[in-house]
Amino acid sequence: MKVLVAEDEIISQKVLETLLKERGYEVIIASNGKEAWEIIQSDDPPKIVLLDWMMPEMDGIEVCKLVRELKREPYIYIILLTVKSETMDIVTGLESGADDYILKPFKIDELMVRLRAGQRIINLQEELIATREALRDLAARDGLTKVWNHYTIWEMLNIELNRSRRLKRPLSVIMCDIDHFKLINDTYGHIIGDLVLQETVKRLKAGLRIYTEIGRYGGDEFLIILQECEHTAAINIAERIRLSVISTPIETPKGKINITMSFGVASGAHNDTLSAIDLVNTADQALYRAKEKGRNRIEAAINSTPH
Ligand code: GH3
Ligand code: MG
Repeated sequence: MKVLVAEDEIISQKVLETLLKERGYEVIIASNGKEAWEIIQSDDPPKIVLLDWMMPEMDGIEVCKLVRELKREPYIYIILLTVKSETMDIVTGLESGADDYILKPFKIDELMVRLRAGQRIINLQEELIATREALRDLAARDGLTKVWNHYTIWEMLNIELNRSRRLKRPLSVIMCDIDHFKLINDTYGHIIGDLVLQETVKRLKAGLRIYTEIGRYGGDEFLIILQECEHTAAINIAERIRLSVISTPIETPKGKINITMSFGVASGAHNDTLSAIDLVNTADQALYRAKEKGRNRIEAAINSTPH
């Protein structure tokens, strides 16, 4: 684990550096508060800081306050080192945002147990962050197919549409829906229907670039957001993924199942007045036409002028 030692007094600095290195810590040195603050703001800062109270340029208390104002993750655990031993000093030190406080001269064993306590807090916080992120991801995805859920894909569309408008870049969407999916459920049962949905998503994704967002709009209907993609290109992509979905039958425990899928394409962003709802409605109407015209085909929105 990386530890930042912020200490202006050269002998203390060297002693700390040697002791910590001997015990397996990676040590980074700052000779004043300003330097420490710069290191803390860098991309991959040490998560534990041993901070001398009295330093030139900026003292330890100021650094503590700035670190806490940053409110950045992961958490930085700060141990203040000082000769100030009055109760009020301790209060001031901890109130500025330090997690712990060691009086100089300190015993190395005491410093080490305090460092280990800090490490435990850091580890716990990292586990919490990882769990929170996993839960966040879980809540944003559809349980069956693991693509974004209805809510998330809408959020993404709003964000992407705003971005495209701002940058005056094209954006297209594809709405697609499995043909006669109900029949698959009725013939083979829901479990097989689920497998078909999962395999369909796999095939849709196989035909798309890795950063293309896809979400389960509902039931057997999916919404795909194509950033930087004008209308004609979007139609070509829809055709490519249609072929990817229908090319081979889906293998299931109840035999091979042939599926087809219908697609509706709409483009926006160049049109400043088109909202996300308009765009999705337009793609949905195109999809509806594809169904009406016999399914297993692509229809493009009539009023989506090529960009
Ligand atoms: P169309 O060609 O007009 O789309 O016909 P369709 O039979 O596919 O009609 P529709 O899209 O309205 O039917 C969707 C069906 O998808 C109805 C619903 O029971 C089924 N469905 C929705 N969610 C799930 C799911 O999670 N698993 C399974 N197995 N079926 C689902
Ligand atoms: Mg359907």
